[in-house]
Order: sequence, then C-alpha cells, then structure tokens
Amino acid sequence: MPSTRLQEVYSTLVANNPGESEFHQAAKEVLESLEPVIKEHPEYTDRALLERIIEPERQIIFRVPWMDDKGEYHVNRGYRVEFSSALGPYKGGLRFHPSVNLGIIKFLGFEQIFKNSLTGLSMGGGKGGSNFDPKGKSDDEIMRFCQSFMTELQRHIGENVDVPAGDIGVGGREIGYMYGQYKRIRNSFDAGVLTGKGINWGGSLVRTEATGYGLVYFAAEMLKDAGTNMDGKKVIVSGAGNVAIYAIEKLQELGADVITASDSSGYVYDPDGLDLDLLKQVKEVERGRIKDYADKRPSATFVSDGSIWDVECDVALPCATQNELDGDAAAKLVKNGTKFVAEGANMPCSPEAIDVFNAAGVRFAPGKASNAGGVATSGLEMEQNAARSHWSFDQADQRLHKIMVDIHDTSIETAEKYGFPDNYMIGANIAGFIKVADSMIDMGVI
Ligand code: GLU
Repeated sequence: MPSTRLQEVYSTLVANNPGESEFHQAAKEVLESLEPVIKEHPEYTDRALLERIIEPERQIIFRVPWMDDKGEYHVNRGYRVEFSSALGPYKGGLRFHPSVNLGIIKFLGFEQIFKNSLTGLSMGGGKGGSNFDPKGKSDDEIMRFCQSFMTELQRHIGENVDVPAGDIGVGGREIGYMYGQYKRIRNSFDAGVLTGKGINWGGSLVRTEATGYGLVYFAAEMLKDAGTNMDGKKVIVSGAGNVAIYAIEKLQELGADVITASDSSGYVYDPDGLDLDLLKQVKEVERGRIKDYADKRPSATFVSDGSIWDVECDVALPCATQNELDGDAAAKLVKNGTKFVAEGANMPCSPEAIDVFNAAGVRFAPGKASNAGGVATSGLEMEQNAARSHWSFDQADQRLHKIMVDIHDTSIETAEKYGFPDNYMIGANIAGFIKVADSMIDMGVI
C-alpha cells in the first residue's frame, strides 16, 4: 500500500480493532485497490471519508440464552454490525458458526457494503450472527435458539432499517423460525424484514439457488471473456452447503464436469462427476457428513487428510469459508494448469493465494463480485415484498443473470480503466467503492 494516506487509514483500523485479523485482511485488500482512484480523485480522502467508511455505523452485541432438549441452559453471543446505510437499508446475512466473533462479522459486513453496491440495487451493508454451533442440534433446539436470537434482534431491524438473511448455518429453516418469532413479537406481517423466506410467505423463487447459480453465471462470463466456455471443463468445488450445491447444479447444466465437494471433515473426489441428487439427500435432507456421500457412491473416494486443491482442474470455485485456499494451495492449482478461480464463499482465498494467481495469469474473481447473486436476489425479494407480488422462476432467474453479467462487465471495465486489465479484484473494489463514496459525499459528514 504505497500511499501514505491509505497506510494511515489502515494503521488506524488495525489500532482500533485489535486482533480482528479477518477484518484487517478484508479492509487491506480494498484500501490497496483504491490507490489509483485516490491518485486521480484526492477528494475521496476529504472530510475523513475513508476513516468513516471503515468504521461501522453501529455495532450491536447481545446475549442469547436458550435451553437444550435435556433442559440444560446455554448462553451464546449474538451480533449485528450495521456497517453502512449509504445506499439503502443495512443488508446482509446472519452466520451461525462456532468461529463467529466480532472481527469475523465486521469483515463480512465490510465486504457486504461493496458487494451490495455492485449489484446496482439499493442496499447498504451489514452482517450478523452468533457463535452458536448448529451441528448436531435437534430441530427443537434450533427453533428455541432462533426464537431467543430474534427476541433481541427484532428491536434493531425493519424493512427500511436493516434486513438480515442467511449465511453459513442459517438457511430456510432458521429464517422461518426467526420470522415467526419476529411476527409474533411485533404483531405485524412485515415480509420485507428478512429475506430467504419460504415461498408461501413472501419468499422469492431462485433465492435458494441464487448464490450458486450467480457464481456460475459470473464464472461463465469470465470464461467467455477469455474465449472459452464451461462445456467439458473439469471443475472443483469446495463446500457442500447452499452455495456449493447450486453452483454444482448450474455447472452440470452447462456441461462442466464437477468432481469434488467438501465439508469440515474432508472432501470427496468423484471422477465420474458428482451425483447431485445424492449430495442433496446427504447434506440437505439428512444433514449428514460428506463421508456419507462417498459411502453410498462406489465411484467416489473420501479424503480426510489431504487438500482438495491438489485435485487437477481447469476451474476452481472455493465455496466453503474464509481463507480455505492459501498460497501453497494456489501454487498447486497453478502447477496443475488451473486457469480460472472464482470465489463462492466470502474471502476464501488468502492474500498470498491471490498474489500467486495474479503472478501466474490465472483469472481470479473476488467473492464480492462473483458471489453477489445471493444478496442480489435478496434485493429482488425485497422488491417483490414491497410490491406485494410474486415473480415466476424465469423472471427472477433472468434478473439474476443480468445482474451477474453487469457485475462482471463493470468489474472488468473498471479494472481496465484504472490500468489493471483482467484484474477483477481491483475492478470490483473500485466500482463498489465509488458508488458508496459518491453517496457519502452527497450526504455530508454523518
Ligand atoms: N450471506 C449472503 C452473502 O454473503 C447473502 C446475504 C443476503 O442475502 O442478505 O452475501
């Protein structure tokens, strides 16, 4: 980060947010990308704009007590970081995972500001969650936890204020339990207060598939831009959650050969191509482990102690979690001939991995561009809720597709304009930033 101004901003952030390494990492990446913009438009550093953009507007931390099936009590910590409302109501998911802490939520909320900006819809950035571990919990335990979590969260959200949705550990079931509790406490059917709702009660078709489909729409544009397509490409996908499953579905539709999936216990390698129905059965219906897939599928091997990134492929789509792909893994992918990497998860590639890709000419798309389809379709759900209408699957899917193509084009054109051809990361960071920064300038120092 050569500019002393940007360096100062980053040092302030590190000093004010000690120990929050993921937040530091996400902010550093964006600030570094802004170097050419700041040079051309020094006005973006006026009136402490950069200092304001890295400081959340509001951070809420609360106690979440709940009772398990044996009658024992537990206390978890709940978070909602309302980062930026420059473009619209705070918008972003809730993550339930034992690794959740304030730094993780801040990194996710910070990313969300620029991601939401890139969608072209009117959404600010926020994120929340809890260190609650849903693994192994009964349906009743999940319900009681969600109800307790919403009992506090409901004071802070609203369709024009802050609109949460899902993320890791929070899917349709959890959104249902949280919406039920919200509706009960507020005595008001405010459909637009949460997204990712069930289709019968205000949800949007395609929202479930949107992050995975959107990722593949984006990746397909990257391949097209390089003069090729998905047909017959060998693709590795990590993860086996909502993003991975629907990315695999769309990849297979486009004729790609998807040969891996993973969870925290290891990965499966299936050279015949994944059996998606079986994967959905194991992960979505039975809520089981990825090994169960291999146990039921003769062509698949379960690997518990290796790296999924050792598997040879043309395209790699990390769809599990932050920093799952480091510099060594990136070097392995490059050695094996991978030409395209697009992030389905939020910040799955470490800064070292991104450096390796850039040095080797691998086209790399950052999550805030390539995984924006989920939140974009949340924005479409909000549109439908506000109009009290329901779109067909095709209508929503076409809007999603167009948004992803637009994000692709904006990222690549902005990168080119600022002198970094083919660098999706710099292009996405700059394009996402400019819209937020211009709005902040319009609204004065707040
Ligand atoms: N958690 C998703 C993301 O990382 C979606 C958020 C939303 O739909 O609000 O973008």
